[in-house]
Amino acid sequence: MAPPPSAHSPADAAAADAIARAPGQPTWIDTHCHLDAAEFDADRDAVVERARAAGIGQIVIPAVDAGNFERVRELAHRHRLAYALGIHPMCTDRASPGDLDVLRDALARHAGDPRLVAVGEIGLDHFIEGLDRERQVAMFVAQLELASEFGLPVLLHVRRAVDSVLKHLRRIRQVGGFAHAFNGSEQQAGAFVDLGFRLGFGGAVTFERALRIRRVGRALAQAAIVMETDSPDIPPQWRYRTAEARAAGATMRNEPAELASIGVELAALRGETVEALAAATTANAIFSLPRLAGLLTRADDA
Ligand SMILES: [Zn+2]
Repeated sequence: MAPPPSAHSPADAAAADAIARAPGQPTWIDTHCHLDAAEFDADRDAVVERARAAGIGQIVIPAVDAGNFERVRELAHRHRLAYALGIHPMCTDRASPGDLDVLRDALARHAGDPRLVAVGEIGLDHFIEGLDRERQVAMFVAQLELASEFGLPVLLHVRRAVDSVLKHLRRIRQVGGFAHAFNGSEQQAGAFVDLGFRLGFGGAVTFERALRIRRVGRALAQAAIVMETDSPDIPPQWRYRTAEARAAGATMRNEPAELASIGVELAALRGETVEALAAATTANAIFSLPRLAGLLTRADDA
């Protein structure tokens, strides 16, 4: 695996490591949460409070298009969280080349903002029908180049597009980051790891029938894993509702506080203690997104 980037100060890293390994409630990092989503409009403050009480020491809020850059930045500052700026592949159809200038401008303007931890959410989605692939690739490549230029890690959305994403990552070298909501094979996971990336695991591993993802979640080296909820999406199995129930009005919103229980499931699956998995995945997240080192909080001092 490529050596982790080391842009953070050793003092920050040591302090973060001490928090990650402190006795008591495990500290987790939710490396992917769309806290700006409308699903959280009614109770966003309570959602953040519940996350802190559950031991979620930091949350990364990725942007999805130029229209929400200011919103995710404002939310991160208001709630003392972290954010990323980027254009999501599913938003590329309505994005214009001018939006790349908006991104560059925002990255330059906020380069000194300690809460700006990555470029994201960017990537390729070949699952959704009707998205222009050439346009997606052009936007993805331009954003990889921006990430390189600004020395920021990337948060990757990869759906049915692992090989093309890897191809571009090999060509435009990155300082690392995450393949979020990873859903590929063990071999594909290894290819990301070889390029210095880590894989994001969340609610999907809690489903007994998710055989492949559970197998990969069991087999991967501890150093390759980071945790995420992707809330309000990808609810864990205990929040899942059938289509019939949803038609009758049931909701299945996911939220960052669930990460603690998802971590318990993944630790059991891997035959590790919850404390060991929390400490390792928190340290992993900080290795990949070095600016998180200065942003970690514990439930007691939140
Ligand atoms: Zn996302």
